Amino acid sequence: MKYAVDNRGYYGRFGGAYIPEMLYPNVEELRTRYLDILQQEDFRREFDDLLRNYVGRPTPLYHAKRLSEACNAHVYLKREDLCHTGAHKVNNTIGQILVAKHLGKQKIIAETGAGQHGVATATVCALMGMECIVYMGEVDMARQRPNVERMRILGATVVPATSGSKTLKDATNEAMRHWINNPTDTHYIIGSVVGPHPYPDMVARFQSVISEEMRKQLEEAVGNPFPDYVFACVGGGSNAAGAFYHYLNDEHVNLVAVEAAGHGIHSGESAATTALGKPGVLHGSKTLLMQTEDGQVIEPYSISAGLDYPGIGPMHAHLFDVGRVKFVSATDDEAMKAGIELGRLEGIIPAIESAHALAALKQFEFASDDVVVVNLSGRGDKDLETYIRWGKY
Ligand SMILES: *Cc1c(COP(=O)(O)O)cnc(C)c1O
Repeated sequence: MKYAVDNRGYYGRFGGAYIPEMLYPNVEELRTRYLDILQQEDFRREFDDLLRNYVGRPTPLYHAKRLSEACNAHVYLKREDLCHTGAHKVNNTIGQILVAKHLGKQKIIAETGAGQHGVATATVCALMGMECIVYMGEVDMARQRPNVERMRILGATVVPATSGSKTLKDATNEAMRHWINNPTDTHYIIGSVVGPHPYPDMVARFQSVISEEMRKQLEEAVGNPFPDYVFACVGGGSNAAGAFYHYLNDEHVNLVAVEAAGHGIHSGESAATTALGKPGVLHGSKTLLMQTEDGQVIEPYSISAGLDYPGIGPMHAHLFDVGRVKFVSATDDEAMKAGIELGRLEGIIPAIESAHALAALKQFEFASDDVVVVNLSGRGDKDLETYIRWGKY
């Protein structure tokens, strides 16, 4: 596959494994084993069974007729919002906990920013009866109280990261430190297509079920597996990677990634990584990230917690580099309006992350027979507070 990771763990000039020496054995064990495990018959059977009977897959591909009229194209929504736990993230945590089992691990650690990945991880740990420790910045714990309590209800231990800015970056450092000290019995579940090789490739493979289903469902719905466009929002890039995966080599399918522009790309408060970012190392891989002249990571901002990330996965940095994926952005305002519009037109309140993908539809002139798929990565229940504070509905 033309855009696949190479055997050194790179996508073009991005990727690799930039990790402390002490972490090398853990990452190396995963690197040498993951492809074998993913191909094993009993792994496939258990993964497919849990996706179907626990997560609720395949998720519907819904023809949004009133939204289609408003956009002057045939718009379909890939309903990842209907997954158990309310978003696509569980596709990945199910896959990784099965990998952990195959590696003989008994404990799981994870880091979380907004708490969504922490909840998806705590969920699968409860499912498998495995011990779960989630590192979370102290500031994020205060901001995302309901998710902290969800994790605790599910039996996870939430450990506050109290250094630095007390947010995601610090939680990641704590999780890495834990993993260094507990290499033999613990697996670290990373929540997006980020981190050292092989994580970006492994997570993309788990999320690729999204476009695998899309191809079949489009074939059934319109007699052709290829849409004209696929839209997805990008935080780290896992739902986009899943939605694009089985179309990457079909160059006639336009792939659009939507970043969060916050208060505006040049406002100093945004998370529009490709517009503002430069190559650097973040979270164990070489990628594009928002940084100052002297390489300090710039704190990102977005109204949606899931897009509030200063980088993108190395696969996306490469797809941007070579022009295979078009990157656009939507501001807080545009996303909130698009989220409320979807509620009014289709009776679906989307996650504010997903609303960014919807907002980008307005930036395109479609032909009236174009087939457009929007990956609706999550549902809006978790964002009710933000919708209420926004108020304009
Ligand atoms: C976490 C999250 C995202 C962003 O993460 P990606 O890895 O970029 O997909 C998007 N949408 C929802 C609903 C999320 O919870």
